Amino acid sequence: MTATNDRHKVVVIGSGFGGLFGTKALRRADVDVTMVARTTHHLFQPLLYQVATGILSAGDIAPPTREVLASQKNARVLLGEVTRIDLANRTVVSEMLGRETELAYDSLIVAAGAGQSYFGNDHFSEFAPGMKSIDDALELRGRIFGAFELAEIGATRGDNVDHLLTFVVVGAGPTGVEMAGQIAELAHRTLKKDFRAINTRTARVILLDAAPQVLPPFGAKLGERTKRELEKIGVEVRLGAMVTDLDERGLEVRHKDGRTERIEALTKIWAAGVQANPLTRTLSEQTGAPLDRAGRIAVNPDLTLPGHPEVFVVGDMISLDNLPGVAQVAIQGAKHAAKEIQRRLDGKPGQGPFHYFDKGSMAIISRFRAVAMVGRLRLTGVVAWLMWLGVHLVYITGFKNRVSALLKWAISFFGRGRSARTMTLQQIFARNALARLERGATDLVSRPGEYDEARRAELEAQAAEEARLTDQGARGVPVEQRSAG
Ligand SMILES: Cc1cc2nc3c(=O)[nH]c(=O)nc-3n(C[C@H](O)[C@H](O)[C@H](O)COP(=O)(O)OP(=O)(O)OC[C@H]3O[C@@H](n4cnc5c(N)ncnc54)[C@H](O)[C@@H]3O)c2cc1C
Repeated sequence: MTATNDRHKVVVIGSGFGGLFGTKALRRADVDVTMVARTTHHLFQPLLYQVATGILSAGDIAPPTREVLASQKNARVLLGEVTRIDLANRTVVSEMLGRETELAYDSLIVAAGAGQSYFGNDHFSEFAPGMKSIDDALELRGRIFGAFELAEIGATRGDNVDHLLTFVVVGAGPTGVEMAGQIAELAHRTLKKDFRAINTRTARVILLDAAPQVLPPFGAKLGERTKRELEKIGVEVRLGAMVTDLDERGLEVRHKDGRTERIEALTKIWAAGVQANPLTRTLSEQTGAPLDRAGRIAVNPDLTLPGHPEVFVVGDMISLDNLPGVAQVAIQGAKHAAKEIQRRLDGKPGQGPFHYFDKGSMAIISRFRAVAMVGRLRLTGVVAWLMWLGVHLVYITGFKNRVSALLKWAISFFGRGRSARTMTLQQIFARNALARLERGATDLVSRPGEYDEARRAELEAQAAEEARLTDQGARGVPVEQRSAG
């Protein structure tokens, strides 16, 4: 596909924090931007756990990118998974359900993020979904609320339901902490009056990590404080505990002292590791830029690829100066890239290296309890929670999503309810079912241009026959009477 005019063409890969903010930062530039992404939405990943635990609905944290960019005239949105990047010929190839598109670019911003890492044990994913996408969050919602339902059935039949009421979160980083805190609140507060055969307050929530502390990026003191707060709301925190095996009914853990333990738990949630998007491999092969253990690519200090000043890589895909995998790194990196493109077109000198401004980090433990780190300031409790509320309201994309989230937070935090508890069997099982199909969802659609003329004739004949039966008053009339008439 080629652009219709000679304006500078920018292709942006990804509609996450880097992709969306990079595209928006180019709104006044004399360029044509094509943002290609494998989902139709921009995802606010930090609130995925609230979709999984029924506080928010998917739409609150995942507005359609097409709508977000509707008034940005120089930007277009294309649905597709990028499968090839050809740096020499400056093209990007994307694919969606068997339909391939080639895009030419003058400048490229790669912001394809990171995925879940099971540290080489990918088969764990069947029974312990990660939390990276709306699909993941909805599946987890189904599994979490579904476990309480199965426990109710089991208790009604007189079965032992301990394993159904045990929830294990693997990974004590911000995502794991937030998830464990919310499941504890669900069990001990939200659901306590909803069941008859089980007492949801007896549910166990276990947070495991191989590392010796909770929330390592927040430092030892806040980590210890968070652990105590989690324990206060009923979360069992097990540190130095490495998961060695995992199946449908539970998992095996090896402790630091060599002891092994089997935990019976239907619901496992993987919040343990991240791996950069595999597109870093092709970029590395074509430039010689090395990858680190998490698959992140070493970029130049100005976020370009070695030998390719026209290609910027931003966000979770990069390894530069120990920058963390957080939203602000992606947002600021993408804005830096957009500004550099604009300056080059204006004939201005380059900005030089990318400088990250750390605005701080925070994690919510439960309602009215959070931890926050801003510069040298370490905050906990209600003050940190209010900061968390303010920051998230500012960064959720779109006014209507902010209003909707605020309303649902009021319902969940001040009341006992959760507005988004809907779950279906499809939600729980579709991912694994699709994974078992050889070519995933592509198997379920016809390929472009594949069109069955005979089937069309059959459908036309069938419709004509239906119409004739109605027109001739032949419906409901026995065959013998029809011929007699
Ligand atoms: C559960 C969770 C909680 C988090 N909490 C916080 C938090 O509290 N604070 C914080 O600062 N950070 C948090 N983060 C991290 C933060 O979300 C990431 O650092 C940030 O999203 C990185 O932005 P990005 O643009 O690099 O990638 P992403 O935002 O992940 O965007 C990647 C985009 O690329 C698309 N894509 C991927 N592969 C392809 C392909 N081949 N072709 C086309 N498109 C593709 C994806 O669909 C997506 O649109 C959290 C992350 C997770 C998963």
